[in-house]
Formats: sequence, structure tokens, C-alpha cells
Amino acid sequence: MSYTGPDHDPAPPRRGRRPLTVAVAALVPGALLGWLVYEAVGAPAEERTPRRATASSPAVTSRPADPAPTPAPDDDKPSPSPTTAADGPLKGKVVVIDPGHNPENFRHPSEINGKVDIGTGRKECDTTGTSTNSGYPEADFTLDVAHRLRALLQQQGATVKLTHDADRPYGPCIDERARIGNQARADAVVSIHADGSASGNRGFHVILPAPVHQGAADTRPIVASSRDLGERIAGNFVRVTGSAPSNYVGDGTGLVTREDLGGLNLSTVPKVFIECGNMRDSKDAALLTSGAWRQKAAQGLSEGITSFLRG
Ligand code: ZN
Repeated sequence: MSYTGPDHDPAPPRRGRRPLTVAVAALVPGALLGWLVYEAVGAPAEERTPRRATASSPAVTSRPADPAPTPAPDDDKPSPSPTTAADGPLKGKVVVIDPGHNPENFRHPSEINGKVDIGTGRKECDTTGTSTNSGYPEADFTLDVAHRLRALLQQQGATVKLTHDADRPYGPCIDERARIGNQARADAVVSIHADGSASGNRGFHVILPAPVHQGAADTRPIVASSRDLGERIAGNFVRVTGSAPSNYVGDGTGLVTREDLGGLNLSTVPKVFIECGNMRDSKDAALLTSGAWRQKAAQGLSEGITSFLRG
């Protein structure tokens, strides 16, 4: 189906897997413990927080587990962007947020199916993205999380730019998405997605750029910094959301390296994708459709990005 967008949805080959950093590796077991506790007691999705699972992890003793952000009602819209905090810790830092897909892409099949150059080949301009079985579109999810993340980063003083804000008829194409981050000279870029995999496949994964040097693509200068960004996002995403790393790619690390994504291949600044969960799994969909959970997802992303930018 068209929702299985070729730019990110197919399960990637298991390649380039490398050991996690100690910090992330130490965080994961705690999160998995929380996951198992949740599964055993059947707590409502909104209550699945990192709570005591992370508090028991020695790796986070230097950084106290955050209280869960004040939950918003599920249909709550993210807060309007506050004025940038002039003297926040991220003052002078530029973050580009790339909300995957566009809610209007499905109206423009010929445009989004047009091919663009991604260095290693040619690929569709963009895809429609997936949706939950009940019809919540990935493109709506990615925009909502992007708005929440923008607000959190601006509170820290960062300059934040979105690659689009449903303010254009379709796209941008994947090459332009990369270009926007490059031209902004972003200190970090995150492309937000949710996956469209088989039911039973659960959890999040962060996608890192592989070393690619072909045509217009040369990721060699950003591979290491992007891995650092991705590991920090994965660790904080586990801690804040309580979600487990993917059980279907990444061998439990929550990290996957790919060389077939134009948005990564063409980036000249540190960049990762995140698949926040699997929209086609009913349990993951219950999280992804929850405004309270999306706020946690944004918080986890924000803390990972902040950790990266502050070194
Ligand atoms: Zn996507």
C-alpha cells in the first residue's frame, strides 16, 4: 500500500549495528523492566512512564528521573510556541525539526511520486506516510510532536525551524528537507516519523546515517556526530516515555543505521530519524494517538537534543 513509504518504512537491512554506549545500554534494561511491569499490570497507556524503572537504574543517578510532564488531554493541542528564551541554555543553537510527510501528500500523487536525486540513486519526492488502523495519519502525528518539541526547545532558548508546517500543498521533497537543515546550518536535525509495520511489532527506533559517499551524498563528516545525537535521543526517549526499543529492528538497541534515506544521505549537519512507534500495532497506536504520550515523546526528544547540544 502507498503508506509503506519507501523513504523510511521498509524494514532496513541489519547492517552497521554497533554496540551502544554505556549510557544507553545501561538505560535500556531499566526501561525494559518498566515495560515488563507495565505489561504485567496492564496499566493504562498514559500511565506508562519511566517512573521507578529508570530510577532504579544506576546509569541515571547522576540525572534524576524527570517527573512526567503534566499530561494534556488526548485531544489537546500543543501549547502555542512561547517566545524564545533569550538566555536559555540553548541560546545560539539552531535545531531543525522535520515532520515526516505532509497531511496533503495524498492529494498530490504525481508530484510526490516524482523522483529526486539522493546521491545513491533516485527516490520518490515524498510519501503519504502510514496511519493507525482507525485512521490517525502519521503526517498528523509528526506535526503534532514537532509542535510540542518546538515549544520545548524554544523554552531552552534554541532557534527552531520546521521543514514544513502543513503550510504547503505537499512535501517538501526529501532532498529539500535535507537542504533546509543544511542551509539553516543546523546544530541538530531530527526527522519525526511513526512506522507502518506488522501488528505485534512494537517500540521505537532511531535511524542513523551510514557512511555514504556517492554523487551528491557525503555523510562521512556527520556519521559520528549523528550517532552521538541518536544515542542521546534513544536513551532519553526510553527514560521519558517508558517505551521499549523496537522489537523488530535494531536487535533491542533502538538504533538502526541506513544508507537508503535521502533525508540522511544529503544532510551535511548532524541528523537522525526517529520512528516513534508502530502505528499498525494496536498497543503502540494507543500511545501514538494519546496527546499525553506525544508530549512525553517530545520531552524525550527535547532532552536528547539538549544533551547533544550541551555536550
Ligand atoms: Zn514516515
